Amino acid sequence: MSNPPKELEAVLLNRSGSRRGKEIQFLCPVHDDHNPSASYNIEKHAWICRACNAHGGWKNLCDRVGLGLLPSASKRGRIAATYPYHDAEDNLLYQVVRKDDPKDFFQRRPDGQGGWISNLKGVERILFRLPQLLAALEAGKEVFIAEGEKDVENLKALGLEATTNPGGAGNWRQGLHQLPPRSTGRIAPGQ
Ligand SMILES: [Zn+2]
Repeated sequence: MSNPPKELEAVLLNRSGSRRGKEIQFLCPVHDDHNPSASYNIEKHAWICRACNAHGGWKNLCDRVGLGLLPSASKRGRIAATYPYHDAEDNLLYQVVRKDDPKDFFQRRPDGQGGWISNLKGVERILFRLPQLLAALEAGKEVFIAEGEKDVENLKALGLEATTNPGGAGNWRQGLHQLPPRSTGRIAPGQ
């Protein structure tokens, strides 16, 4: 990309910004600025803060204001495992992705065009393996609540039915409303 993204000017204007000819004055992203001290030249694609003297080109500025040109957490590291979350009708709502080097977790949802969006804006959080969980309860089986998706997979390998919540077992109760009101099985919080 050899030109600043078109969002840049809007982002600067959002930082108490105002246009002065070829420049936009805005709140400096480097120091604790309360009176717009930084200016960006929209022709030279360069910025400088007259208060703290931070400065640079448009790429530097994009990184500073969070326009995300630096690799984000979702781009670093190697994908070690993906855990799909399906709703009761077996639609894929999102995935929890586990990474190595560095170890990290993030969540992403399908964009409907074969790609992914790395956030869960507007997506209901559901219990892991919800369709299987519902089937197990229907059949009167016991279901274990595990600490995380990896533990669920381990329990599954032992022939046990298990689930977890995105965010960990500590939050598992928040997903319980997704279960049928008169489940014949029972949920046993795991250790
Ligand atoms: Zn500054």
